[in-house]
Amino acid sequence: MKISPTAVSLFTFLANTLVSSFTVPTPLSSLTTGRASSSSTELFTRKPFISGNWKLNPSTKEKAIELAQDIGSSVGKDIDYDVALFVPFPFIESVMEQVGDKLSVGAEMCTPEMAGAFTGGISPVMLKSIDVQWVLAGHSERRTINKETDGYINAQCVKILEEGMNVMLCIGETDAEFEKDLVGCVCEMQLKKGLSGVSAEDMSRVVIAYEPVWAIGTGKVATPEIAQKVHVIIREILVKMYGRDIAYDTRILYGGSVTDESIDGLMAQPDIDGVLVGGASLLPDKFGRIINYQLDETFVKELQEVDV
Ligand code: PEP
Repeated sequence: MKISPTAVSLFTFLANTLVSSFTVPTPLSSLTTGRASSSSTELFTRKPFISGNWKLNPSTKEKAIELAQDIGSSVGKDIDYDVALFVPFPFIESVMEQVGDKLSVGAEMCTPEMAGAFTGGISPVMLKSIDVQWVLAGHSERRTINKETDGYINAQCVKILEEGMNVMLCIGETDAEFEKDLVGCVCEMQLKKGLSGVSAEDMSRVVIAYEPVWAIGTGKVATPEIAQKVHVIIREILVKMYGRDIAYDTRILYGGSVTDESIDGLMAQPDIDGVLVGGASLLPDKFGRIINYQLDETFVKELQEVDV
């Protein structure tokens, strides 16, 4: 489906309007938006991506299997976008057996070392050997609790990609950084360091999850408008790093206290390409509703009426 100049200007206008009221320390000029106004020729070229992060849950393999089955029953045949669950290592293969045909089962982290005296390590090559396709890197809990640095996270990303898997790189500012208008700076630094050495070609296997630390597990979800503004900023940083085509094809997900109630508003934003969900991904009914998000009819109608 070709996109007309009318569609491009509609979304450019929307994005610029949203961004104009948002202060970031890094001057970011001529911001445009993307899910519908990709520089390529299709509407919605970026496939939505709904993902869950179980963290250190549930407590047993039996419970993990039950939870996976319940979640899997919400992934209907009509769902033509990506759904993934990041689960604790001991459950990966059992969950894959149960729902691997419906969704991707990923790992919550890995260690970048490939072999040797690294007790407790889980290497990318080990994950690859059990058919893991997606690995999380840089989750804020790993950054803070496990003291993972940007350099370490970068090494993880590079190795995950070298093994042919896909990486979801999490970035995001703390409460204090948000208050000081440092959102753009923090995202730029974490993106540049985290993706150092990652080629433009490999970016097709990278997804960015914007997760403001102040919104993770706190119940404080960023409003769709704030999240959209930051996603536009992140996309513009990617433009500077990789050029427009790659930046507009890269999926940027939002994470931070997403619920079945907030999902529709978030997914209606043109630069929010999906979500990474923690707490609610342990609640099958709520996560099922998140997987089956609904776009506002007016929004869909407006898109359909755009002269393409
Ligand atoms: C997360 O763990 O990545 C997350 C966003 O958690 P929650 O949805 O519970 O805030």
